[in-house]
Amino acid sequence: MRNSNSRSEVTPNPYEMAVAQFNSVSDRLGLDEGMRRLLSMPKREITANFPVRMDDGSTQVFTGYRVQHNLARGPAKGGIRYHPTVTLDDMRALAMLMTWKTAVADIPYGGAKGGVIVDPKALTDRELENLTRRYATEISILIGLEGDIPAPDMGTDDRIMAWIMDTVSMHRGYSVPGVVTGKPISVGGTAGRMEATGRGLLYIVQEATAYRGLSGDGLTVAIQGFGNVGAVAARLLHRASYKVVAVTDVSGGVYNNRGLNPDALLQHKRPAGQLLGAPFGDSLTNEELLALPVDILIPAAVGGQIIARNASTIRAKIIVEGANGPTSPEADAILEDNGIFVVPDILANAGGVIVSYFEWVQDLQSFFWEEDEVNERLHRVITRAFRDVVHMAERDRCSLRQSALLLGIRRVVEAIGVRGIYP
Ligand code: NAD
Repeated sequence: MRNSNSRSEVTPNPYEMAVAQFNSVSDRLGLDEGMRRLLSMPKREITANFPVRMDDGSTQVFTGYRVQHNLARGPAKGGIRYHPTVTLDDMRALAMLMTWKTAVADIPYGGAKGGVIVDPKALTDRELENLTRRYATEISILIGLEGDIPAPDMGTDDRIMAWIMDTVSMHRGYSVPGVVTGKPISVGGTAGRMEATGRGLLYIVQEATAYRGLSGDGLTVAIQGFGNVGAVAARLLHRASYKVVAVTDVSGGVYNNRGLNPDALLQHKRPAGQLLGAPFGDSLTNEELLALPVDILIPAAVGGQIIARNASTIRAKIIVEGANGPTSPEADAILEDNGIFVVPDILANAGGVIVSYFEWVQDLQSFFWEEDEVNERLHRVITRAFRDVVHMAERDRCSLRQSALLLGIRRVVEAIGVRGIYP
């Protein structure tokens, strides 16, 4: 299955990458041909071309998607991305990853993803709201409290989630806070959601470094991407006495082997709009960041960043995947040969969806928890998932990626099996 959007040769097709990962474990799981076909394709997908009224009175047509991969374990769950490079294949890949991710974390959801081909920074607030409300209406035949619950991803935030929640609520005639997660607290959001993915990364880094026998203050960290995920991870790791020596965003970034202060970087980035030129160390490119000799490397930007061409330049001891799909299968093999310990996306960045689940549960109960309780429960769920995955990797003598896929896919297959095939 391909769509017509072209992609440069160096960036692998994300859907082909996701299917290759799935195929790499389906033999081991002994899946029959029918199950392989079922799980390597999305269950449902919408492509919507829709008009939006712009501030200058003109009309622009945008393209958006919502893809549901599998719902055997519960309602579909997955973020919404606003980015100029969004493709249908991205959505298919990311929806599949969400199915495995929710299963690895053992929360009762399936997987979905949505997105719009747009640069949100190029729109005014009113245009962004118009686009969001129209996109939400277009996909409202799929999304809903019990069927498919979106959340923020790249280029979207709590304000956009509030518009989606309001749009669906207007259609229903009453408030449906649980239709999206990652909302502002004032309309049913949860404490701790904004930081959840970065906080989950912190807990995973703590588990992974302990497991690999790296200890003590000042373990060095390089982070690619300085948005919702990367900047929060940088702040929390800094506070937990890790030494964040390099960060980049799309513009490039900054390196200082004595350590960087993420709060100062954020203060620089807010007015400047980019990290490049931050006066706290030497400038560096994204490729240079990936090749730094650090203890921990956290890709937390777009997918397809660690590929065959640059994998052998990586000198980090541990990679913790904050981004979705940052490593191609070819690169994975090179990293494994080089003894680099990779904590895969479907485990490492699950903090966001775990706390999204807590938000949804609180919305269903109309009863809200303190932030400490949210963080404590997140810690419990994500460290249990890490230990389950490590245990299986040791038992089956495989990488953490293979083990996480085995664990997640096995849980999904089990749910399909006990439900049976309708009719
Ligand atoms: P964001 O839009 O807030 O930030 C993305 C960051 O990546 C920005 O700093 C941007 O400048 C940088 N970036 C973009 N393209 C880049 C490139 N080519 N090279 C280097 N840097 C680049 O997005 P986010 O929410 O932080 O998401 C980042 C990644 O984490 C995505 O892969 C997303 O799917 C994944 N993720 C996000 C969440 C979440 O809760 N937000 C949860 C799980 C996974």
